Amino acid sequence: MKIRSFDVDKAILYLVATPIGNLKDMTFRAIEILQSVDKIYAEDTRTSGVLLSHYDIHTKLESYHEYNQDLKSDQVLKELQSGMKLAIISDAGLPVISDPGYKLVTLAIENGIAVSTIPGASAGISALIASGLAPMPYTFYGFLDAKHTKRIKELEEVKYLSHTIIFYEAPHRIAETLKDMLDVLGNRHIVLARELTKTFEEYSRGTIEEILVDLPLKGEMVLIVEGYKEAGQIDNPFQKIDELISLGTKPNEAIKEVAKLTNSNRSELYKKYLQYKNEQ
Ligand code: SAM
Repeated sequence: MKIRSFDVDKAILYLVATPIGNLKDMTFRAIEILQSVDKIYAEDTRTSGVLLSHYDIHTKLESYHEYNQDLKSDQVLKELQSGMKLAIISDAGLPVISDPGYKLVTLAIENGIAVSTIPGASAGISALIASGLAPMPYTFYGFLDAKHTKRIKELEEVKYLSHTIIFYEAPHRIAETLKDMLDVLGNRHIVLARELTKTFEEYSRGTIEEILVDLPLKGEMVLIVEGYKEAGQIDNPFQKIDELISLGTKPNEAIKEVAKLTNSNRSELYKKYLQYKNEQ
């Protein structure tokens, strides 16, 4: 079934991206749409109120969050069926992505109502592109479960995935999550991207063990984790050593890690690596 978003007279549900920290990351189109719709549904009306008043948007604002979405969805659907144009926003980034909205999207689609995306910032993909880890293929995981046993189970399910994985995590849980990752996934390369787009944006790159030594415990954070690599799967061990060093691993650690991954003798690998560098 084909539903067009450009039919100006019809009801439509807009999914509008908002900034993830820096108010300037708001698109012209997002402002235009939020000014023009009949109503905006927001995860937290107080948080969104600040953004909307900054951009002089005075559209009616109502809450739609995790805890009232079952009740509110029927109301939203009725409004769409009556011909209203609505927008949904979350506290930050894209609605639907680790935020409410999915239920509304499916309801709208099932009822033949147009859904349109107004793109912009999203923490996960923004962290991925700056991480220096393989950008493709990737898996967006979002939040792991808050309970240790469930989290371990979830990590076991993704252990052999060769994709780079994007996780969201809260600062008060980051230490335990990283320790669980170390136990289940092994000492992988990770990037902890913090406070993206804000004044103190920061990337910590290294192995899980290295990051745990000086772990930042504040701020909003995204965790990018390299995918599973089978022993012997590395085509060029010297390039892999260079890649690890460029990501912040100490040279002797990089050689140790690649020796382990390729099942080779560490000092032999070191000698060959030096020879390779000399010939370059
Ligand atoms: N819908 C949002 C998106 O598109 O990215 C994600 C919302 S989720 C409830 C909030 C999580 O996103 C935070 O706990 C953190 O993991 C991540 N996040 C949001 N803003 C961030 C930022 N500025 N820097 C790093 N991580 C951020």
